[in-house]
Amino acid sequence: METDDNVFSNSDITVTYNPSACINAERCARELSNVFRNSVIPWIDLDGASTSEIINQVKKCPSGALQFCLNKKEAC
Ligand code: SF4
Repeated sequence: METDDNVFSNSDITVTYNPSACINAERCARELSNVFRNSVIPWIDLDGASTSEIINQVKKCPSGALQFCLNKKEAC
């Protein structure tokens, strides 16, 4: 099985991060720092906020580097 350091899941959603697309605006880390942490590994902690808060933040990513899918509805 392929492992990917940039795929993160909780029971509801899977969030993916594409570092080559990220423009380092740090919007995610600034606005939801309990989830998107810039000095801790793993840098995305999906236990740091509610699923709806995380989805709202992922949608604001200006580069599209952050994406999410719902575990139950889509093939993540
Ligand atoms: S909001 Fe998107 S583009 Fe900005 S730092 Fe986070 S992942 Fe990168």
